[in-house]
Amino acid sequence: MITFANIDKWYGAYRALTTINAEITKGEVVVVCGPSGSGKSTLIRTVNRLEGIQGGQILFEGHDIHGTDANVNRLRSRIGFVFQSFNLFPHLSVLDNVILSPTKVKGIKGSAAKKQAMELLDRVGMTHKAGAYPGQLSGGQQQRVAIARALAMEPPVMLFDEPTSALDPEMVGEVLSVMRGLAKEGMTMMCVTHEMNFAREVADTIWFMDAGQILEKATPEVFFSQPAHPRAQRFISDLRSH
Ligand code: ADP
Ligand code: MG
Repeated sequence: MITFANIDKWYGAYRALTTINAEITKGEVVVVCGPSGSGKSTLIRTVNRLEGIQGGQILFEGHDIHGTDANVNRLRSRIGFVFQSFNLFPHLSVLDNVILSPTKVKGIKGSAAKKQAMELLDRVGMTHKAGAYPGQLSGGQQQRVAIARALAMEPPVMLFDEPTSALDPEMVGEVLSVMRGLAKEGMTMMCVTHEMNFAREVADTIWFMDAGQILEKATPEVFFSQPAHPRAQRFISDLRSH
């Protein structure tokens, strides 16, 4: 579904990604992990063109995402993105946040859009707050609404960049459980996260990054018990000692 072929990314003179080659197949859950500053956000943001690239190609459903003729709006409507910060529209109710894109972009009409939105809110356990405003919700609730909003466009793939990092610890579980549910239903997912229990349980494949490279791709079983790369071994042993 997504192919990274020889991706190079520079911020000015700083090389943020070096020759990234990787693939995500339909229904696969990839967890990207690695130390801070290793390029995880940069990599995930190249997928929906929040970041440009200087070399290589990213194919999504066979289309060259960074090609000059790529349709960015269509692309973004096919790729759900959930950020660390919740960025809901503060002046819109929960329901209107979820309804906005389908009505504007897809032209879905009032009652059908509302029905779909309520189903999505049900899926993330938020129907009781449909009329509330983002400022009246906890961080975990806002993040669950953000997931419902992304799902409203019925994207075949969802990207998550540290969706639980800004949450108080007691709210992390509710967001991870929504993500776990999505994975179970067969959603294709690319998740940057430090939640290693989630990675262990839910990931099909773990990509370990350091200094702008993917140093290891492995199943959770292999990654957590016998990582091949010395840098990954150090990462795992640091996790253990914490
Ligand atoms: P991670 O998500 O793994 O913490 P990032 O992808 O955010 O890492 O950053 C990778 C590297 O690129 C870091 O050294 C960071 O300082 C640098 N970087 C990120 N964004 C920018 C930017 N907009 N301009 C310059 N350097 C950046
Ligand atoms: Mg990051």
